[in-house]
Amino acid sequence: MLVLQGMLLIDGSGKEPIENALVVVEEDKIKAVGRVGEIDTSGAAEAIDLTGKTLLPGLIDCHVHICMDPVSDPFASLVKDSDATTTLKAARKALQTLKAGVTTIRDMGGKNHIDLDLRDAIAQGLAQGPRIMASGRLITMTGGHGWMIGREVDGPDEARKGAREEIKAGVDVIKIMATGGVMTPGVEPGSPQLTEEEMRAAVEEAKKAGKITASHAQGLTGIKNAIRAGIDSIEHGIYLDEEACEMMIENNVYLVPTLAAPYWIVAKGREAGIPDYAVSKTEKVIETHNASFRLALKMGVKIAMGTDSGTPFNEHGENTYELKLMVQEGMTPMQAIVAATKNGAELLGLSDQIGTVEAGKQADLLVVDGNPLEDIDAVTRVHLVFKGGKAVS
Ligand SMILES: [Zn+2]
Repeated sequence: MLVLQGMLLIDGSGKEPIENALVVVEEDKIKAVGRVGEIDTSGAAEAIDLTGKTLLPGLIDCHVHICMDPVSDPFASLVKDSDATTTLKAARKALQTLKAGVTTIRDMGGKNHIDLDLRDAIAQGLAQGPRIMASGRLITMTGGHGWMIGREVDGPDEARKGAREEIKAGVDVIKIMATGGVMTPGVEPGSPQLTEEEMRAAVEEAKKAGKITASHAQGLTGIKNAIRAGIDSIEHGIYLDEEACEMMIENNVYLVPTLAAPYWIVAKGREAGIPDYAVSKTEKVIETHNASFRLALKMGVKIAMGTDSGTPFNEHGENTYELKLMVQEGMTPMQAIVAATKNGAELLGLSDQIGTVEAGKQADLLVVDGNPLEDIDAVTRVHLVFKGGKAVS
């Protein structure tokens, strides 16, 4: 039995924080949560004083590319590397991510199912990293966004078969491409790609198998197609309007904004070697993207944190930068924390296990120096991370 005490507790639910809190961990789970003095801790093997620190749930990043190098041209790098090299690099990125306090990730597109093997290796203790929900090979139209790492399908039957084959391979989530994007040459972020019928076929298969679905969706027509097709989350959501937000609210669709992806592309730019097509497209959409985020926030769309780490200069292990950007664009620090904890767990269908600091849940915990409600940068000052009750070192 391990006792953590004396810290501020932000439990992830959005409720008022608790001062001078006490959390009891037994094996991999949280056993009790309260204030110092309220809970009998006699018999505890170890007590850690965390005065001056804040304890949060381990963070959940709903959109990463654990196989991708955050270099100027990640797709080129991924295509060039052997599977063995990609796997070794991915294992290192997973550890960097975990050390940043991110105890669960949803991978949104890797290569040759390396994400699935890494997920299993971590679960078996062969490698150290966050819990992974993996999407395997993303499903895109012929020549569509991400075709270099995805599987190309045309027509509802092929989309259905694509989803079935990914489910057979063991994915946790089906990722489909509703529109173009910035990192693929020759496709436009605003253009629709897979049709509503194609997406519906893939979503139907996912639902039958109890899997969740996510859609890369930047342009408005593609966003609405994906929502009508029954998708669980809209990734990026660059060109949202009020109607799209209303559709999302009505259908319980989450927005995973990934503000960090365009931020780093524009911040580093052509000088850093990012392909000109990617920088030009991103410069065109970044303001619209931020405005869409603000609109979704104002209208009450559910938002889950996702970074798109693995895109240019969007480093694995610096995932918490997304919280800072969400706060800059209008969230309160508490809203940003809830997006990165409770909301992520709900989107992933894991809220009975993770996402809040509550008795009975997995002891996935992040301890930081200072108070992130006063200064969101505090989430970057990692003091301790626990995954399933085990300290990460
Ligand atoms: Zn992505």
